[in-house]
Order: sequence, then C-alpha cells, then structure tokens
Amino acid sequence: MGAVGYRNTFHPKSPILALRAVVPDTLLKHWHEAGITRISQLINDEGIIPFPDLQIQWQIPNCAIFSYLQLKSVLNAHTTLSQEMRGSASVTPHLLIERCWASPTKPKALTLCYKSWQELSPNKPHPHKAQWETDCGVTLTEGDWLHALNDLSKWTKCYSHIEAHKKLLYHWYMTPQRLHRIFPTTSPTCWRCNSTTGTLIHLWCSCGDVQPLWTTVRLVLDELGIPRFLLTKTTCLLLLLPALLSS
Ligand SMILES: [Zn+2]
Repeated sequence: MGAVGYRNTFHPKSPILALRAVVPDTLLKHWHEAGITRISQLINDEGIIPFPDLQIQWQIPNCAIFSYLQLKSVLNAHTTLSQEMRGSASVTPHLLIERCWASPTKPKALTLCYKSWQELSPNKPHPHKAQWETDCGVTLTEGDWLHALNDLSKWTKCYSHIEAHKKLLYHWYMTPQRLHRIFPTTSPTCWRCNSTTGTLIHLWCSCGDVQPLWTTVRLVLDELGIPRFLLTKTTCLLLLLPALLSS
C-alpha cells in the first residue's frame, strides 16, 4: 500500500471499515455495529480513547478488546501522533488532522540516496576526485575528469578494461589498506612486496614489484616511436596525456 493510501486510510474522517487492510472484517464488525463508523470516533484531544470509556459510551462488548488493541497499535504505528499524545496534553484535533495528512513514515534509504544525489552541490568535489588530487599532487579540472572518464572508450572496446578502469577512477579497487579498514583482522601490507602499506598508489605505481610493468610500457611506447615523456601518476592511472601528446 502506498503512502497516499495510508494517508487516506488513517485520516480521522475515514470510515473505520477502511482499516480492513490491517484488521480483519470480523473484528471491525463489533465497532461498526456499535455505531463507530469513523476513525475520529476513537480519538479525542488526549489521544486514542481508552477501551473502558469506549465501552461506556458505545456499549462495546468485552470481546472487542483484542480488536481495540489492534486498532490502537495500527494508529500508533502509522501516524506521528503517538509520541506527542503520550508526552503532551496539548494535542488538538487540528494537530491530529494535520499529522494524519503528513507523511506517515520516515524516509527510507533509497529516498535518502536520491535526495542526497539531487542536492549534491556541483561546487563540492567528489571524495574520489579530492583523493586523486592529493595522491597525484595536482589540481584537476572538470575537463580533465571528462577525459579521464571517457577517453578509454575511444581506445578500447573491451568492457572488462573499461570496467576495471572505472573502478580504479572511483576508488572501488580493493586494496589491502581498504580491506583492513573493513576487516581489521586482515593485513594492510602490500600483497606484492609485503613491505609497506598497500595503498592504491603504492600498488599501482610505487611498489617495487610493479616496476617491470612500467618498464615494459616504456619499451612499447619507444617501439611505437612515441616521443619520450615522464610517466606520471596522472598519465599512467588517469590516462591524462601530457600536452605534447594530447594536441
Ligand atoms: Zn608493494
């Protein structure tokens, strides 16, 4: 049942039989036959009317106590009235109606995600971008990031390569350091050289065991006749070419 349905269902003016979705017909029958046809007849300025008072006013049979507890539980759970009713005698019918029309539930995780996404300030750098700038010691423009995100798809059609590259860019790559933060019993040490903390930059650039990879890259570039340039972190990992090659 959607939020609108709940709002309508638990509006004080709604017929009590509208609660059939949560309380069986057979139990609601006692209340309807006694003359209680609206939810508003179950509540007053103090909150939900106690069962003995309802019995006196409407000649409700004792056997209706179970359905009364069900109704009370449902109204407490699906309106925001219960806390205020318990803690304050100043709840008025106006507030009661106002609250019943309000959203009955707290926003769920997905709602909060979308809200956060929509409200994200364009001027606030994404955490992974700030981390890359710190790691590489450079300031990157939005144009740089567009190149970093999109250029690889010009050079390869292999989705595995593109996916791996995106994971690297967004810092989704699992490093020993990151795994150690999630699972403290694991070692944060680089699993290649086993000598220092396995950060993202260490694993891909600084680690002694990965240097043969970059030596091979240099040899391949030389064989292709590409002018020599410094293999920086931004070139190797973010694929941002130096000016002499990007023009
Ligand atoms: Zn290492």
